[in-house]
Amino acid sequence: MDAQAELSWMMRKEMTFRSVQGQAIQAIQAIQRGDSQIVTVMPTGAGKSMLFVARVLRTPRGDHHRIRWAAWEERASVDGASIVLVLPEKAVSPKFGTFIKRLKRLQLLDRIVIDECHVILNDELDIRKMLQELGKLSIAETQMVLLTTTLPPHLENKLFERMFWQREEVTLIRGSTVRPNIVHSVVDGRGVEARKAQLESIVTETSRDPTQPEGKVAVMCGNVAGIEQIGRAGQVPCKLYHAGMSDAARAEVLEQFRSGGTRAVVATGAFGIGIDIPDIQFVVFVDEPRSTLDYAQTSGRRGRDGSPSRAIIIRGGLQFHDPLVQHYMDGQVAQCRRIAIDRDLDRNLGRVQQLADEQPCDNCQ
Ligand SMILES: [Zn+2]
Repeated sequence: MDAQAELSWMMRKEMTFRSVQGQAIQAIQAIQRGDSQIVTVMPTGAGKSMLFVARVLRTPRGDHHRIRWAAWEERASVDGASIVLVLPEKAVSPKFGTFIKRLKRLQLLDRIVIDECHVILNDELDIRKMLQELGKLSIAETQMVLLTTTLPPHLENKLFERMFWQREEVTLIRGSTVRPNIVHSVVDGRGVEARKAQLESIVTETSRDPTQPEGKVAVMCGNVAGIEQIGRAGQVPCKLYHAGMSDAARAEVLEQFRSGGTRAVVATGAFGIGIDIPDIQFVVFVDEPRSTLDYAQTSGRRGRDGSPSRAIIIRGGLQFHDPLVQHYMDGQVAQCRRIAIDRDLDRNLGRVQQLADEQPCDNCQ
Protein backbone atom coordinates (compact mmCIF):
# COMPACT_ATOMS: atom_id res chain seq x y z
CA MET A 1 0.00 0.00 0.00
CA ASP A 2 1.48 3.42 -0.84
CA ALA A 3 1.47 6.31 1.59
CA GLN A 4 -1.50 8.00 -0.02
CA ALA A 5 -3.65 4.87 0.13
CA GLU A 6 -2.60 4.28 3.72
CA LEU A 7 -3.57 7.80 4.64
CA SER A 8 -7.05 7.55 3.17
CA TRP A 9 -7.54 4.17 4.86
CA MET A 10 -6.52 5.72 8.11
CA MET A 11 -8.88 8.67 7.76
CA ARG A 12 -11.78 6.34 6.98
CA LYS A 13 -11.01 4.22 10.01
CA GLU A 14 -10.60 7.23 12.22
CA MET A 15 -14.01 8.56 11.32
CA THR A 16 -15.65 5.19 11.84
CA PHE A 17 -14.13 4.69 15.24
CA ARG A 18 -13.77 8.21 16.59
CA SER A 19 -16.56 7.92 19.12
CA VAL A 20 -15.57 4.62 20.65
CA GLN A 21 -11.83 4.48 20.28
CA GLY A 22 -10.62 7.55 22.04
CA GLN A 23 -7.57 5.75 23.41
CA ALA A 24 -6.35 4.84 19.93
CA ILE A 25 -6.61 8.49 18.86
CA GLN A 26 -4.75 9.60 22.00
CA ALA A 27 -2.02 7.10 21.24
CA ILE A 28 -1.67 8.34 17.65
CA GLN A 29 -1.38 11.90 18.96
CA ALA A 30 1.35 10.79 21.37
CA ILE A 31 3.19 9.07 18.52
CA GLN A 32 2.96 12.18 16.39
CA ARG A 33 4.13 14.43 19.23
CA GLY A 34 7.18 12.22 19.35
CA ASP A 35 6.69 11.03 22.95
CA SER A 36 9.49 8.55 23.46
CA GLN A 37 7.80 5.99 25.73
CA ILE A 38 4.16 5.17 25.19
CA VAL A 39 2.06 2.43 26.79
CA THR A 40 -1.49 1.78 25.63
CA VAL A 41 -3.95 -0.50 27.42
CA MET A 42 -6.93 -1.14 25.18
CA PRO A 43 -9.35 -4.02 24.68
CA THR A 44 -8.99 -6.18 21.58
CA GLY A 45 -10.42 -4.52 18.52
CA ALA A 46 -10.17 -0.99 19.91
CA GLY A 47 -8.20 0.28 16.96
CA LYS A 48 -4.79 -1.14 17.69
CA SER A 49 -3.94 -1.44 14.01
CA MET A 50 -4.45 2.30 13.67
CA LEU A 51 -1.32 2.81 15.71
CA PHE A 52 0.72 1.37 12.88
CA VAL A 53 -1.00 3.43 10.24
CA ALA A 54 -0.18 6.56 12.22
CA ARG A 55 3.23 6.35 10.62
CA VAL A 56 2.09 7.99 7.41
CA LEU A 57 1.25 11.29 9.04
CA ARG A 58 4.58 12.17 10.47
CA THR A 59 7.88 10.62 11.44
CA PRO A 60 10.91 12.29 12.95
CA ARG A 61 12.49 12.35 9.50
CA GLY A 62 9.32 13.61 7.87
CA ASP A 63 9.94 11.37 4.90
CA HIS A 64 6.64 9.71 4.12
CA HIS A 65 7.61 7.77 1.09
CA ARG A 66 10.45 5.76 2.54
CA ILE A 67 8.56 4.68 5.62
CA ARG A 68 8.06 0.96 5.96
CA TRP A 69 7.04 -1.13 8.90
CA ALA A 70 7.56 -4.81 9.46
CA ALA A 71 6.95 -7.49 12.04
CA TRP A 72 10.30 -8.83 13.18
CA GLU A 73 11.06 -12.52 12.86
CA GLU A 74 14.47 -14.07 13.36
CA ARG A 75 14.67 -15.58 9.93
CA ALA A 76 12.81 -12.97 7.90
CA SER A 77 14.58 -9.87 6.70
CA VAL A 78 12.94 -6.61 7.67
CA ASP A 79 15.68 -4.41 6.28
CA GLY A 80 14.32 -1.12 5.08
CA ALA A 81 11.67 -0.97 7.79
CA SER A 82 11.75 2.12 9.97
CA ILE A 83 9.00 0.89 12.26
CA VAL A 84 9.44 -2.55 13.77
CA LEU A 85 6.67 -4.53 15.41
CA VAL A 86 7.82 -7.29 17.71
CA LEU A 87 6.41 -9.69 20.28
CA PRO A 88 8.06 -9.50 23.70
CA GLU A 89 9.54 -12.99 23.62
CA LYS A 90 11.35 -11.99 20.41
CA ALA A 91 12.20 -8.51 21.68
CA VAL A 92 14.21 -10.05 24.50
CA SER A 93 16.26 -12.27 22.18
CA PRO A 94 19.92 -11.29 21.64
CA LYS A 95 19.36 -11.33 17.85
CA PHE A 96 16.75 -8.61 18.10
CA GLY A 97 19.11 -6.49 20.20
CA THR A 98 21.80 -6.84 17.53
CA PHE A 99 19.31 -6.03 14.78
CA ILE A 100 18.15 -2.88 16.54
CA LYS A 101 21.70 -1.72 17.17
CA ARG A 102 22.52 -2.07 13.50
CA LEU A 103 19.40 -0.18 12.39
CA LYS A 104 20.16 2.52 14.89
CA ARG A 105 23.73 2.86 13.65
CA LEU A 106 22.40 3.26 10.13
CA GLN A 107 19.84 5.79 11.43
CA LEU A 108 17.05 3.80 9.87
CA LEU A 109 14.86 3.26 12.90
CA ASP A 110 11.91 5.45 13.89
CA ARG A 111 9.87 3.33 16.26
CA ILE A 112 9.74 -0.03 17.98
CA VAL A 113 6.25 -1.34 18.74
CA ILE A 114 6.05 -4.18 21.26
CA ASP A 115 2.70 -5.95 21.13
CA GLU A 116 1.37 -8.07 24.02
CA CYS A 117 3.77 -6.23 26.34
CA HIS A 118 2.24 -7.79 29.48
CA VAL A 119 4.44 -10.80 28.71
CA ILE A 120 7.37 -8.74 30.01
CA LEU A 121 5.77 -9.15 33.45
CA ASN A 122 5.85 -12.94 33.19
CA ASP A 123 8.09 -14.27 35.95
CA GLU A 124 8.33 -17.64 34.25
CA LEU A 125 10.75 -16.17 31.71
CA ASP A 126 14.46 -15.95 32.47
CA ILE A 127 14.34 -12.53 34.13
CA ARG A 128 18.07 -11.80 34.19
CA LYS A 129 18.47 -12.48 30.48
CA MET A 130 15.27 -10.62 29.65
CA LEU A 131 16.34 -7.49 31.54
CA GLN A 132 19.69 -7.53 29.79
CA GLU A 133 18.01 -7.47 26.38
CA LEU A 134 15.38 -4.91 27.37
CA GLY A 135 18.24 -2.72 28.57
CA LYS A 136 19.69 -2.85 25.05
CA LEU A 137 16.39 -1.61 23.64
CA SER A 138 16.31 1.28 26.06
CA ILE A 139 19.71 2.51 24.92
CA ALA A 140 18.53 2.42 21.29
CA GLU A 141 16.92 5.82 22.08
CA THR A 142 14.06 5.19 19.70
CA GLN A 143 10.38 5.92 20.17
CA MET A 144 8.86 2.86 21.79
CA VAL A 145 5.17 1.97 21.88
CA LEU A 146 4.00 -0.87 24.10
CA LEU A 147 0.57 -2.37 23.48
CA THR A 148 -1.49 -4.65 25.67
CA THR A 149 -5.10 -5.55 26.35
CA THR A 150 -4.40 -6.14 30.06
CA LEU A 151 -2.25 -4.24 32.53
CA PRO A 152 -3.47 -4.18 36.13
CA PRO A 153 -2.58 -0.77 37.63
CA HIS A 154 -0.63 -2.41 40.45
CA LEU A 155 1.77 -3.83 37.83
CA GLU A 156 2.44 -0.58 35.95
CA ASN A 157 5.57 0.26 37.94
CA LYS A 158 6.91 -3.26 37.53
CA LEU A 159 6.56 -2.91 33.74
CA PHE A 160 8.27 0.49 33.69
CA GLU A 161 11.11 -0.82 35.82
CA ARG A 162 11.70 -3.76 33.54
CA MET A 163 11.79 -1.42 30.55
CA PHE A 164 14.30 0.81 32.44
CA TRP A 165 11.79 3.69 32.16
CA GLN A 166 11.05 6.49 34.61
CA ARG A 167 7.35 6.64 35.35
CA GLU A 168 7.15 10.40 34.84
CA GLU A 169 8.54 10.05 31.31
CA VAL A 170 5.94 7.52 30.19
CA THR A 171 2.76 8.44 28.33
CA LEU A 172 0.24 5.94 29.64
CA ILE A 173 -3.05 5.66 27.79
CA ARG A 174 -5.55 3.45 29.50
CA GLY A 175 -9.00 2.36 28.41
CA SER A 176 -11.48 0.14 30.24
CA THR A 177 -10.51 -3.48 29.71
CA VAL A 178 -13.86 -4.96 30.77
CA ARG A 179 -14.94 -7.78 28.49
CA PRO A 180 -18.72 -7.79 28.77
CA ASN A 181 -19.16 -11.01 26.80
CA ILE A 182 -17.34 -13.31 29.22
CA VAL A 183 -19.25 -15.39 31.77
CA HIS A 184 -16.92 -15.84 34.74
CA SER A 185 -17.34 -18.82 37.02
CA VAL A 186 -15.54 -21.03 39.54
CA VAL A 187 -16.52 -24.65 40.17
CA ASP A 188 -15.28 -27.22 42.63
CA GLY A 189 -13.20 -30.16 41.48
CA ARG A 190 -11.40 -31.43 44.54
CA GLY A 191 -9.99 -34.85 43.88
CA VAL A 192 -8.74 -36.22 40.58
CA GLU A 193 -12.03 -37.90 39.68
CA ALA A 194 -14.13 -34.82 40.42
CA ARG A 195 -11.88 -32.69 38.23
CA LYS A 196 -11.97 -35.20 35.41
CA ALA A 197 -15.75 -35.28 35.57
CA GLN A 198 -15.98 -31.46 35.52
CA LEU A 199 -13.71 -31.19 32.51
CA GLU A 200 -15.52 -33.92 30.66
CA SER A 201 -18.92 -32.36 31.22
CA ILE A 202 -17.69 -28.96 30.03
CA VAL A 203 -16.22 -30.38 26.82
CA THR A 204 -19.35 -32.45 26.19
CA GLU A 205 -21.53 -29.41 26.80
CA THR A 206 -19.77 -27.35 24.16
CA SER A 207 -19.93 -30.05 21.52
CA ARG A 208 -23.69 -30.33 22.05
CA ASP A 209 -24.42 -26.61 21.93
CA PRO A 210 -26.30 -25.95 18.66
CA THR A 211 -25.85 -22.18 19.03
CA GLN A 212 -22.06 -22.61 18.92
CA PRO A 213 -21.42 -25.08 16.12
CA GLU A 214 -17.75 -24.16 15.93
CA GLY A 215 -17.29 -23.57 19.66
CA LYS A 216 -13.80 -24.39 20.87
CA VAL A 217 -12.35 -25.20 24.25
CA ALA A 218 -8.96 -24.14 25.61
CA VAL A 219 -7.94 -26.12 28.69
CA MET A 220 -5.23 -24.37 30.68
CA CYS A 221 -2.83 -26.35 32.88
CA GLY A 222 -0.21 -25.10 35.33
CA ASN A 223 2.54 -27.35 33.99
CA VAL A 224 3.44 -29.78 31.21
CA ALA A 225 2.89 -32.83 33.41
CA GLY A 226 -0.75 -31.81 33.81
CA ILE A 227 -1.16 -31.45 30.06
CA GLU A 228 0.31 -34.86 29.38
CA GLN A 229 -1.86 -36.43 32.03
CA ILE A 230 -5.02 -35.16 30.35
CA GLY A 231 -3.66 -36.25 26.98
CA ARG A 232 -2.86 -39.77 28.25
CA ALA A 233 -6.21 -40.14 29.99
CA GLY A 234 -7.83 -39.65 26.59
CA GLN A 235 -11.06 -38.54 28.27
CA VAL A 236 -11.48 -35.64 25.88
CA PRO A 237 -10.40 -35.53 22.25
CA CYS A 238 -7.76 -32.82 22.29
CA LYS A 239 -4.38 -31.62 21.07
CA LEU A 240 -1.56 -30.69 23.41
CA TYR A 241 0.35 -27.40 23.27
CA HIS A 242 3.34 -26.32 25.37
CA ALA A 243 6.69 -24.55 25.23
CA GLY A 244 8.60 -27.87 25.14
CA MET A 245 7.27 -28.68 21.66
CA SER A 246 9.01 -27.57 18.47
CA ASP A 247 7.79 -24.40 16.75
CA ALA A 248 6.54 -26.49 13.83
CA ALA A 249 4.56 -28.85 16.06
CA ARG A 250 2.96 -25.95 17.91
CA ALA A 251 2.11 -24.18 14.67
CA GLU A 252 0.40 -27.34 13.42
CA VAL A 253 -1.73 -27.65 16.57
CA LEU A 254 -2.74 -24.01 16.27
CA GLU A 255 -3.65 -24.42 12.64
CA GLN A 256 -5.85 -27.42 13.42
CA PHE A 257 -7.47 -25.53 16.27
CA ARG A 258 -8.06 -22.47 14.15
CA SER A 259 -9.52 -24.42 11.23
CA GLY A 260 -11.79 -26.50 13.45
CA GLY A 261 -9.93 -29.76 12.86
CA THR A 262 -9.66 -30.06 16.61
CA ARG A 263 -12.07 -28.47 19.08
CA ALA A 264 -10.03 -28.70 22.26
CA VAL A 265 -6.45 -27.71 23.03
CA VAL A 266 -4.80 -28.45 26.36
CA ALA A 267 -2.05 -25.92 26.99
CA THR A 268 0.20 -24.08 29.42
CA GLY A 269 0.48 -20.31 29.75
CA ALA A 270 2.54 -20.19 26.53
CA PHE A 271 -0.78 -20.52 24.73
CA GLY A 272 -1.94 -17.11 25.89
CA ILE A 273 0.74 -15.26 23.96
CA GLY A 274 -0.02 -13.74 20.61
CA ILE A 275 -2.89 -16.02 19.77
CA ASP A 276 -6.19 -14.67 18.61
CA ILE A 277 -8.82 -17.30 17.97
CA PRO A 278 -12.21 -15.64 17.94
CA ASP A 279 -14.42 -18.69 18.36
CA ILE A 280 -13.07 -20.04 21.64
CA GLN A 281 -16.24 -20.74 23.58
CA PHE A 282 -14.77 -22.05 26.82
CA VAL A 283 -11.50 -21.36 28.58
CA VAL A 284 -11.13 -23.86 31.41
CA PHE A 285 -8.43 -23.58 34.06
CA VAL A 286 -7.86 -27.03 35.55
CA ASP A 287 -5.12 -25.50 37.72
CA GLU A 288 -5.23 -22.10 39.41
CA PRO A 289 -4.21 -19.20 37.21
CA ARG A 290 -0.79 -17.86 38.25
CA SER A 291 -2.15 -14.31 38.50
CA THR A 292 -5.27 -12.34 37.68
CA LEU A 293 -3.31 -10.93 34.73
CA ASP A 294 -2.86 -14.47 33.41
CA TYR A 295 -6.50 -15.22 34.00
CA ALA A 296 -7.75 -12.10 32.25
CA GLN A 297 -5.33 -12.39 29.37
CA THR A 298 -6.14 -16.01 28.64
CA SER A 299 -9.88 -15.80 29.14
CA GLY A 300 -10.06 -12.65 27.03
CA ARG A 301 -8.82 -14.28 23.84
CA ARG A 302 -12.27 -14.20 22.48
CA GLY A 303 -13.86 -10.86 22.12
CA ARG A 304 -13.73 -9.60 18.60
CA ASP A 305 -17.13 -10.95 17.63
CA GLY A 306 -18.69 -10.13 21.00
CA SER A 307 -20.63 -13.39 21.37
CA PRO A 308 -20.64 -14.93 24.85
CA SER A 309 -17.78 -17.10 26.01
CA ARG A 310 -17.11 -18.71 29.36
CA ALA A 311 -14.08 -18.66 31.63
CA ILE A 312 -14.17 -21.40 34.26
CA ILE A 313 -11.72 -22.17 37.03
CA ILE A 314 -11.99 -25.73 38.35
CA ARG A 315 -10.72 -25.53 41.94
CA GLY A 316 -8.59 -28.28 43.38
CA GLY A 317 -5.69 -28.44 40.91
CA LEU A 318 -2.21 -26.95 41.22
CA GLN A 319 -2.05 -23.88 43.43
CA PHE A 320 0.14 -20.84 42.81
CA HIS A 321 -0.96 -18.91 45.90
CA ASP A 322 -1.51 -15.53 44.27
CA PRO A 323 -3.56 -13.62 46.87
CA LEU A 324 -5.64 -11.75 44.27
CA VAL A 325 -6.55 -15.01 42.54
CA GLN A 326 -7.55 -16.44 45.92
CA HIS A 327 -9.75 -13.44 46.66
CA TYR A 328 -11.35 -13.77 43.26
CA MET A 329 -12.09 -17.48 43.66
CA ASP A 330 -13.33 -17.09 47.24
CA GLY A 331 -15.49 -14.05 46.45
CA GLN A 332 -13.76 -12.19 49.29
CA VAL A 333 -13.57 -8.78 47.67
CA ALA A 334 -17.02 -9.04 46.14
CA GLN A 335 -19.50 -11.77 45.48
CA CYS A 336 -19.80 -10.66 41.86
CA ARG A 337 -16.70 -11.78 39.98
CA ARG A 338 -16.94 -8.83 37.60
CA ILE A 339 -16.60 -6.40 40.49
CA ALA A 340 -13.56 -8.29 41.80
CA ILE A 341 -11.89 -8.41 38.37
CA ASP A 342 -12.59 -4.75 37.64
CA ARG A 343 -11.03 -3.64 40.89
CA ASP A 344 -7.91 -5.54 40.09
CA LEU A 345 -7.53 -4.91 36.35
CA ASP A 346 -8.91 -1.39 35.93
CA ARG A 347 -8.83 -0.08 39.51
CA ASN A 348 -12.52 0.52 39.10
CA LEU A 349 -13.56 0.87 42.75
CA GLY A 350 -16.94 2.47 42.11
CA ARG A 351 -18.66 -0.51 40.54
CA VAL A 352 -21.48 -2.03 42.61
CA GLN A 353 -23.18 -4.34 40.13
CA GLN A 354 -22.94 -5.78 36.66
CA LEU A 355 -24.12 -3.59 33.81
CA ALA A 356 -27.00 -4.31 31.48
CA ASP A 357 -24.84 -5.32 28.52
CA GLU A 358 -22.65 -7.66 30.56
CA GLN A 359 -22.96 -11.39 30.91
CA PRO A 360 -23.68 -12.28 34.57
CA CYS A 361 -21.10 -14.29 36.50
CA ASP A 362 -21.97 -17.56 38.25
CA ASN A 363 -22.76 -15.75 41.51
CA CYS A 364 -25.17 -13.32 39.84
CA GLN A 365 -27.06 -15.77 37.66
ZN1 LIG B 1 -21.56 -11.11 38.95
